[in-house]
Amino acid sequence: MADPVGSSLRGSTRIAGVIGAPVRHSRSPLLVNAAFAAAGLDWAFAAFEVAPGRAADAVAAMRTLGLGGLSVTMPHKHDVIAALDRVTPDAAALDAVNCIAWEGDDLVGHNTDGAGLVRSLRLDHQVDPAGLRCVVLGAGGAARSVVRALGEAGAAQVTVVNRTEAKGAAAAELAGPAGRVGAPVDVADAHLVINATSVGMGSPGGAAGPLPVDAALLHGEQVVVDLVYLPLETPLLAAAAACGARPVDGLGMLVHQAALAVQLWTGVVPDVGAMGRAARQ
Ligand code: NDP
Repeated sequence: MADPVGSSLRGSTRIAGVIGAPVRHSRSPLLVNAAFAAAGLDWAFAAFEVAPGRAADAVAAMRTLGLGGLSVTMPHKHDVIAALDRVTPDAAALDAVNCIAWEGDDLVGHNTDGAGLVRSLRLDHQVDPAGLRCVVLGAGGAARSVVRALGEAGAAQVTVVNRTEAKGAAAAELAGPAGRVGAPVDVADAHLVINATSVGMGSPGGAAGPLPVDAALLHGEQVVVDLVYLPLETPLLAAAAACGARPVDGLGMLVHQAALAVQLWTGVVPDVGAMGRAARQ
């Protein structure tokens, strides 16, 4: 089995990486190198700090250096688009790319975030969004990708609840006919509640810290997902568990969006179990 780190790097090793700023905290190298190692691939994955405004230079470098694939994180998700040969319908609708892959000699921008969450729900938690009433809290980049993916997965209703109303309305449109704008009270009527705001990020973990919605609206028939994964047990997930709802943390989405990227780059279906174990270390 190839060890992609350190001395086993060879002339033949394909290099992939993540571009962002800041990017040194990223868990992507851990996850993706675990996938390469588990599959015995002669690939390695690194983090590249790319300053704001230099996204096009990074894409040019990918072409020049023949990098095998790039993940894209803040603040470059929009800016890379102009430097690519084309983008998928998902990336075009979201106006954001989180993964760049080769198709022949062309560089194609994808967005695997929302599909990553839906895959995690289906495969890791046996929750199929088809036919479910869903509430998405937030309307930023993560929320938009999730709203679109829930609409595509056949959710009965995708209600967007956001602090800034206009952004909420724009996000709701991404779900197609199932999309609507709502209010916090709609959480009580939802099967699936997803926090895609940054509320809870960096909290001490457990019950301490702010909630993105009143805990009294949660109940035992619900699945409650928090996309925030630092900490893993957020105040929202602690509140969900306390009232008997099923808490789902944000690592599954992180793992599955990266797994989809690895598949696009290498053609190999990665071992998500190995990736998940690396992420939880
Ligand atoms: P954005 O900055 O694009 O969006 C942030 C959203 O949070 C906006 O809708 C904003 O509302 C809302 N928000 C922020 N602060 C508050 C507050 N105090 N009260 C109410 N709403 C608030 O961020 P992203 O969409 O990129 O990321 C959101 C979260 O999702 C982050 O914690 C991120 O780490 C996580 N994430 C997890 C992923 C995973 O794989 N698990 C993938 C991507 C992101 P408004 O529009 O009113 O400003």
